[in-house]
Order: sequence, then structure tokens, then C-alpha cells
Amino acid sequence: MTIPLKSPNPQARYRAVFRCINGCPGDHPLNEVIYHCPACNDLLEVVHDLEPLRMTAPDEWKDVFDSRFMRTFWPFGSGVWGKKEFVCPDVEDENVVSTCEGGTNLFWAEQLGLRWGLEDLWVKQCGNSHTGSFKDLGMTVLVSMVKQMRHEGKNIPAVACASTGDTSASLAAYCAVAGIPAIVFLPKNKVSTEQLLQPIAHGAVTLAIDTDFDGCMAIVQEITERNNIYLANSMNSLRVEGQKTISFELCQQFDWEVPDLIVIPGGNLGNVTALGKGFLMMREVGLIDRMPRILCAQAEHANPLYLSYRRGFESFEPVHARPTLASAIQIGHPVSVKKAIRVLRQLDGAVEQASEEELAEAAAEADLTGLYNCPHTGVALAALKKWVRQRKVGKKDRVVVISTAHGLKFSRFKQRYHAHELDGIESRFANPPIEVAADYDAVRDTLFRALEARTAHIATRI
Ligand SMILES: *Cc1c(COP(=O)(O)O)cnc(C)c1O
Ligand SMILES: [Zn+2]
Repeated sequence: MTIPLKSPNPQARYRAVFRCINGCPGDHPLNEVIYHCPACNDLLEVVHDLEPLRMTAPDEWKDVFDSRFMRTFWPFGSGVWGKKEFVCPDVEDENVVSTCEGGTNLFWAEQLGLRWGLEDLWVKQCGNSHTGSFKDLGMTVLVSMVKQMRHEGKNIPAVACASTGDTSASLAAYCAVAGIPAIVFLPKNKVSTEQLLQPIAHGAVTLAIDTDFDGCMAIVQEITERNNIYLANSMNSLRVEGQKTISFELCQQFDWEVPDLIVIPGGNLGNVTALGKGFLMMREVGLIDRMPRILCAQAEHANPLYLSYRRGFESFEPVHARPTLASAIQIGHPVSVKKAIRVLRQLDGAVEQASEEELAEAAAEADLTGLYNCPHTGVALAALKKWVRQRKVGKKDRVVVISTAHGLKFSRFKQRYHAHELDGIESRFANPPIEVAADYDAVRDTLFRALEARTAHIATRI
């Protein structure tokens, strides 16, 4: 028996446009190459007409989403395109470029919760995705729109981005799927080997530039603007639309119960914006009736949003981002800061920071409970741990940590942690391999000593 695909109201004509975040007049179609408001030069955002979305009742939408989720009706099985009407209705189905992204598991972090005194702790594994990071959720929308525009006859010879590693991996993969040339600008020696290998393997033109992310960003903007190349960075708000589905999917996975607190690491601040925007949109169409708190977590070495939060968001000053193990969020001048602050204000949001030591230890402690965390997820976990200690989280609160990338993309970080090679970090949970002679007694003695130590370790609580 096949379960039928349910459809929303067939009369509805969905409509979304780009509009200036400062409210300058004028709508711009989503298939126009435009990233900034022509009047004030600030960012644009995608605004949806909610009327057609409201023509299908919330409960019917939930059935529609469930009938599509993780199935094979192109392109609706994707976690992103299963919410197509709320994301990017303008792309024709045959122009969608998808790897069936989204649909990532929610890990019940039982053991970590026990250690930290939380009974309802979950980790949304957004890194269990095609290229190993949540960036796929936004990139599928952006590259689909490029394919659509090329199909309509627009001259877009290539797509380019500056990246701290994961955006370029994702862009390269999606462009390869679509047969569109990709160009990536990476800060030299500042991304992991795995992240460098991904665009190389996918055939992207890969430039390693002797600067940091903020430096790459300045160059890519000029190159794309002056040479008719499409810009894939998150100032391109199409990506936020895809990333927004994290919120929808979370609620769907909890049978539309809204969590109490969501912790998410932030660098360029597109993802925290997307998360908040998703919840606001769901409330506006009646899919949910309450909102979660959002805690954005930054590395202390790249913490401009945290500093602004401490001033009550009264002002924002970019910082010079210092090197951090959380390399994907080593950003001092986040592109989406205005959008992020606006969303955090609407959701009673907060910002916390984590030191290098805190993020490394939190990532490793959580690994010990069966996760395999990237350093950015470590930042989010460390921020949560601080909040638990400060009693800002209730024991019974439902807490979701957004894991942004797969730990397998950051082997060097793990290797150095477990070898006690990270400067100034104790590596409290290091578990290096034990070298032992090929001799029964030696192996048995070593083994039982080690087992005792591990058992004590596992029982630790904060
Ligand atoms: C991009 C990225 C982030 C930060 O997301 P922003 O939208 O830039 O705030 C966090 N973690 C990982 C692994 C990333 O790739
Ligand atoms: Zn404007």
C-alpha cells in the first residue's frame, strides 16, 4: 500500500519577494540578481505573502508535511522542499537542485542530560547532511534559483562564495549536482583539511587567499559585482529561507510541541536569523502558538554579538576576530547582524560566549556520551553548560542544541585534543590509545586499570 501525497489548497497562488530590511519601498522578484537595497544599500530579506499560506488550515499543512517527509516524491522528500510553499515557491520542481537535505535526526542526549541535570535534552544533528553541515539547507535553495534563472535565459556563468569552510563545501557539491561552475575563496590555512578537500573533489575553482574570512568576503563581493558572477554568501537571503526549515522540522519531529530553549552557535548570524524567522512564520500562519527562547552562542575570540548583547543591543561594533578552534565562526563583522538582533529581540533571545577551553571540553564531554561534535557545536554546548550552572535552565525544560556540522570534518581538532596538544587546554576527557606489548598479562593489567578509570569518568556529574 502506498501512502498518498497530500496537497495543500490548489487555489492558493504562493508569492514571495525580496524587500529591504529597513522598509524602503519596492519589491524585487526572487529571480533577479540583487543582494542589496538599491535605495539604502542594506540587506534584503525574503518576504512571503501569508494569505495563500493561510488558505490551507494549520492541521492540513501538518498532514501535508508528514505525507512528504523523507519520501521520494520529487522534490518534496527533502526536508527543505517538503516546506516549499514556505521557502521558495517560485522555483519550478524540475529546476530544484537537491540532495534530499534536511530530515536530520534529533538525538536524545540522555547521558549528557544526566551529567548536566537536564531531563529533556536533544541535539538536532544538522551535520548529518550531504556535505556534513547545515549549510546544505540554504545552498539547495540558492543553487536551485540559479538553475531556474539559467533556465530562463539569464547569463550567470558561475557562482562564487567566500567561506570559513562549510559554505564552500556545500556550494561546490550543489553546483556539481547541477552542472554549474563554482568558485570558492578560502582563507589560506584557516579551514580544516576535510573542508578544503570537499570543493577540490567537486571540481570547484578553489582559491586559498592569504587573509581571514572577512578579507575573503571583501574580495568576493567585488569580484561578483564586477564580473556577473552570482554571490552565494548569506547576504543572499535565499539561503536563510532554506535554513529556516530547521525550525519547522524541529516542531514536526516533536509533534508540533515547541521546545523551551534552543541553543545555536553564531558567526555570520544567518543561521540564528533563519531559526528565529522560521518560528515567527510558523506562529503567523497558526502552526504553533508559543515561541521558544533562543540562545546564540559565540566563541569568545569572535564575540561581537555577545558584546552588543551585554549593552542591551543598544549598539553594535565589529571586532577583529582572533583565531579560534571554532574556525567556521571566526567572524568579526557578521553580515546578518541587524537581522539577527531583530529576531533575538522578538524571541526574548540571549547571547552567551565560550572560551577555547570551554568549547573544547564541552565538545569532548558530549562525545563521551555518544555524540561526535564539531567545535562550533562545542561552543553551543559550552554556553548551555554555563546556563545550567547559572540556573537559567530548568531541569525539566525541553532544550535543543543545534549541532551545525559533523565532527568528522574536524579530525585535527579531535586529534590535538586527545593528544593534549591544544595550548592552554587541559583536555580533561582525553582518551589517547594505550600502547601495550603483545603479551597476555600486560594487556590484562593495562585493560582493567583503564576500565576502572573510564567507569569513574562516565559517572561524573557537573
Ligand atoms: C556557518 C557555520 C556556523 C555559523 O553560522 P552563521 O550563519 O554564520 O552564524 C556555525 N557552525 C558551522 C559548523 C558552520 O559551518
Ligand atoms: Zn533600503
